[in-house]
Order: sequence, then structure tokens, then C-alpha cells
Amino acid sequence: MIRTRFAPSPTGFLHIGGVRTALFSWAYARKNQGTFVLRIEDTDLERSTPESVKAILDGMHWVGLDYDEGPFYQTQRFDRYKDVIQQLLADGHAYYCYCSKDELDALRAEQEAKGEKPRYDRRWRPEQGKTLPAPPEGVQPVVRFKTPLTGSVAWDDAVKGRIEFQNEELDDLIIARPDGSPTYNFCVVVDDWDMNITHVIRGDDHVNNTPRQINILKALNAPLPVYGHLPMILNEDGQKMSKRRDAVSVVDYAAKGILPEALLNYLARLGWGHGDDEFFSLEQFVEWFDLKDVSPSASRFNNEKFLWLNAQHIKAADNLRLAQLIAPTLTEAGIDPSSGPCLSDVIALVKERVQDLNALAAECDYFYKKRVPAAADVEKHLADDSKERMARFAEQLAALPEWNAEAIHHLFKPFCAAEGIKMGQLGMPLRVLVCGTTQTPSVDAVLALIGKDEVLRRMG
Ligand code: GLU
Repeated sequence: MIRTRFAPSPTGFLHIGGVRTALFSWAYARKNQGTFVLRIEDTDLERSTPESVKAILDGMHWVGLDYDEGPFYQTQRFDRYKDVIQQLLADGHAYYCYCSKDELDALRAEQEAKGEKPRYDRRWRPEQGKTLPAPPEGVQPVVRFKTPLTGSVAWDDAVKGRIEFQNEELDDLIIARPDGSPTYNFCVVVDDWDMNITHVIRGDDHVNNTPRQINILKALNAPLPVYGHLPMILNEDGQKMSKRRDAVSVVDYAAKGILPEALLNYLARLGWGHGDDEFFSLEQFVEWFDLKDVSPSASRFNNEKFLWLNAQHIKAADNLRLAQLIAPTLTEAGIDPSSGPCLSDVIALVKERVQDLNALAAECDYFYKKRVPAAADVEKHLADDSKERMARFAEQLAALPEWNAEAIHHLFKPFCAAEGIKMGQLGMPLRVLVCGTTQTPSVDAVLALIGKDEVLRRMG
């Protein structure tokens, strides 16, 4: 049984890189009828906040990635971590280290002066035939893991292929702080083990943690999961995404009028591909997804492509759902969608023209309230003679026995012929007069939706 997890640290918002990690872990579980676990890695008590936990849970809900187990919180598992630390100490896989910060600083300075890479010199590591000094009075020791001195740790990364680290490059990592609290890498190991995670899918910023985690798992006689490290997402300029420069939080995307399915579709395409397919549903993605098709190198965010995809998803989305999504934006703009045509009908007419939900809301306004037209449009399209012509056209509209796009359309040709004008000379003034803008879909359909009384009121 495949078991994957998403294990964010609640130290900020839900980052889109995190969403992509969650998406791939989720899809891998779903594809294999496995289980997807959510684990909140809140051991860093200083940086973790309840607001951030909420942002992560809300963000997961917004994108619609459901989890089968969790959320688990590491802070609720400290007793378990402490037990495992005791076990490692008892089995000789870990030891107390009484080095003070000053001693470690001095050691580091000495090594740096020699041009060596600073690292703990294992002075408190018990070895056969080595006599350790008596523990100093009043010092709370840390617990260090006994990393093998020789050999190497290697794994076949599901994304990046074979990766190998020499053990001698790895420190004797601290697994418990002086106050007994367990450290990050250690908690991850115990959790992945206890939660029977079979596939650890995470960002490639964790590649350096993996050999350390594997060594601890081996010391615990725990089975090793498959690791798959996902490459970073870079911004359009090829830089690491940053909060200052780029939209990185899920909330930013919601505010920009992005549909969650479009964000997931785009994130799926970042670093993974299925031929030339760009626009697809989440169900389709799950069917196609495999870790072996994930690209091992970083991918760049392309805003134009992303917005194009969002537009495709808007076109495909149910209009009633879109109406619910944009109603609050319209209300905020002082427009009451219940005061005019059915909002989902308006959406059906205008949605082809937009790339995001904010633009969609903005396109719907004149169906409820005429826009104030730009002076240039009035000057160009509503000169005196066309005003009079509009009055004549209003009479014909008023006389229509039926009010629909077809009936309105039938008036156009004979009217233009009688007036000796081209269609544009009727359509544009009509748009400016009724809608307050020249940028509208087919004018007959627009008038039909706005309704006879309101159209005639605006023309009068
Ligand atoms: N908590 C880590 C992070 O937010 C992820 C750890 C992991 O997936 O192993 O980057």
C-alpha cells in the first residue's frame, strides 16, 4: 500500500512550491489507491504560528487536495520522539555531547583558520578504547547521532536518479537539544517511520537531509521509503521565487482571480509533462502522473501560459459556480447581481473574453449598471446625428413584440440600409449608449440580456 505525505512547516503562508509538492504527493497516492497524509512540522516553536497552520489548512482546502489522515502535529508527538532517542542511546547509536557553545565556536574558528570545513570533531563520541572525560557539572548535554564513520549512503531517487553521499562528509547530527526537545531531521525520520510512509516526495532543498535521515532509519532498523526530490520552481527571470517579487502564496492567487484547478493544472505542468498536453483536469492528471516523468531540473514560471490556462478553466467551469465566486466582488463594486439578468447567463456571454475572475467580474458590471463612458468614446460614437439615429433605433426596439437576440438582430440590416450606414455605425453607438463601453460581446446578445425596459431606459 502506497503512503505519501505532505509535511509543511507552519512558518508562513502556503507557498506554491509547497502546493506543487502536495499535488505530486497527493497524485501519487491517488493514482496508486494509496493514502495521503498531512503532517504539520511545527517543532520550530519560535517560527511556527497558529495563523500559519490555518493558512496551510485553508490553502489545502482551497486547492482541493484532500488528505486521508491528519493533520498530525509534531508538537503532539514529543513523548514518542523522546522514547526513540532513549532507544538510540540504549542501543549505542547516539550519545550525549557536553560541548558548550564556546567550545564549539573555538573549534570552528580553529578549523576555519586551517581552511577546513567546520564540523564537530566527535570528541564526546564513545568508541572502543577511547576514554571520555567526566561530564562537566551543570551542563545539559545534547544528544548526537553516531553517523557511520566510513562508507556511503546512497539511494535511487525517484526523480533525480542515484544520489550518493560519503558518510565522512556528514556530522554527528544533534537529535535532541539541551532541553531534551528533538530536532527537525530526527522528528521527520520518526514520523515517516511511524506513519509508514512509503514515498517521501518533497522539495530538492531537502536532498542534503536525506542521507542523515537514511542513516537514522537504518540505525532504527526501519524500512527505507522511496525518496523523490522535486526541483524548484523559479520565477520568470529564472530566480528563486520570493515573497517580495512574486506571487508565492496561495492566497495571492485566489486574490488574483485564479481558479484552484488552473493553479493545480499549471503546477502539474511545472516539472512534469504528458506530451504536449497543457490543459487537463485533476482526474486526468492523476491518471497520467508518474514520478519517473518528473523533470529533475528546475522549471520557470511562465505567467502568460499560466493565465492562458486559467482562461481555459474559466471557459470550462460551470457558470453557476463562477457566479458564486464573483458575486462578492460585484457586491464590493456596488453592483447588485439580483437587480438584473441572471448572473450565470451574463457569465456565459462574457467569459470567453477574460483570463481571471476579477476581469470576469469587471466584464459583468454594465449588465447591471451602465458604465460612465470614456469622453473619447462619446465624442467618437455619439455625435449629434448618431444620437438622433439612436432615438430612431430605440423606437424600433420598443416596437419588438419579442425580446431576444435573434429578434434584435433582425432589426440591424434593414435599419442600417434605411439609414445608409454600416453595422459598426449602429453597433458602436449602441454599445456606448447602453453599456458605456465599446468592448462588449455581440450587441444583440448583450441587449437581449440587459432586458427591454432597462435598454430603453438607458437609451432614453
Ligand atoms: N517541513 C519541511 C518543509 O516545509 C518538509 C519536510 C519533508 O518533506 O521532509 O520544507
